[in-house]
Amino acid sequence: MRTPLASSPTDNPDGPPLILDQVSVSFNTSKGPARAVNDVSLTLAQGEILGLVGESGSGKSTLAFTVMGLLPDGARVDSGQIRVMGKDLYHLDPEVLRDFRWKGISMVFQSAMNALNPVLTVQDHIFDTLRSHDPNITDEKARQRMLELLDLVKIDARRARSFPHELSGGMKQRVVLAIAMVFNPPVLLMDEPTTALDVVVQRSILNQVREIQAERKMAILFISHDFSLVRSLAHRVAIMYAGRIVEITASLGKSDAHHPYTEGLMRAIPELSEDEVTISGIPGNPPDLLHLPTGCPFHPRCPVAFDRCRTEVPPMLQVQGNLVACHQYSRSGEESDHGLE
Ligand code: SF4
Repeated sequence: MRTPLASSPTDNPDGPPLILDQVSVSFNTSKGPARAVNDVSLTLAQGEILGLVGESGSGKSTLAFTVMGLLPDGARVDSGQIRVMGKDLYHLDPEVLRDFRWKGISMVFQSAMNALNPVLTVQDHIFDTLRSHDPNITDEKARQRMLELLDLVKIDARRARSFPHELSGGMKQRVVLAIAMVFNPPVLLMDEPTTALDVVVQRSILNQVREIQAERKMAILFISHDFSLVRSLAHRVAIMYAGRIVEITASLGKSDAHHPYTEGLMRAIPELSEDEVTISGIPGNPPDLLHLPTGCPFHPRCPVAFDRCRTEVPPMLQVQGNLVACHQYSRSGEESDHGLE
């Protein structure tokens, strides 16, 4: 078994920009440890947008904060390894890590309202970020970079002296994106970046993300609970449930899902027919992370669970081009409780 945060012998800067290898993360709570991320392995290629989808509490944001090295007090990485641009993140000198964060990898946080300081203007935010990593930058260069960034995210330069409360929700989110792009990081994490925005603004920001990503060949991990949104943006989608990745797919049609949880998420996307909207959710609730079910964590909600599901964690299997963690695809004579074909 891999030792906690084992260091690997070589750094390979030419490998995939982001590699997560069997990463597990727990929170200490007054009722005991809660496992929020469980044995997650993912690879993000250069120029790829990987969507990460799951219900609230599935561990998506915790995973992003783990990759950024920004876990709150009381959380710890129990095992696994994270490599960004070949660097073993959890074995970097703290000073090097501080510099690497934002230059090698940066993040667009969930709520632009909370991410921006209400007493700082747009330009103050950008200058502060620039100077925190490059204290000797001249005023002229900082200003030039700020103008480039505002242009990149399509904010009028006259808005540079605006405070957050003077901006619309969409503009605030663009400012947050500009801050994340200050050093042109090769890897960007986006955690529900458009959740609070209306559909039109959402679409315009996502188009912009797509343009920036294609132009700069960035690797983006795009986190959302909205499957339809992710399908429209990502090259591949990883589906997370109870801290585990349960399916990874590059075929994003409804019929391409293989894991029962992914099928449930697909069914929850509204279908418009001539005179009605059809939508059906997944019955039951996500599990309590303090008391995760044995075996497959989805078994209490799974319509096709069978005996083995209650005792053994399913391994990841190749199924018609997808990676799927489900015993249905490695059954050996067991019968489904629900008449699975
Ligand atoms: Fe359902 Fe079993 Fe597959 Fe889990 S392993 S999703 S319980 S069939």
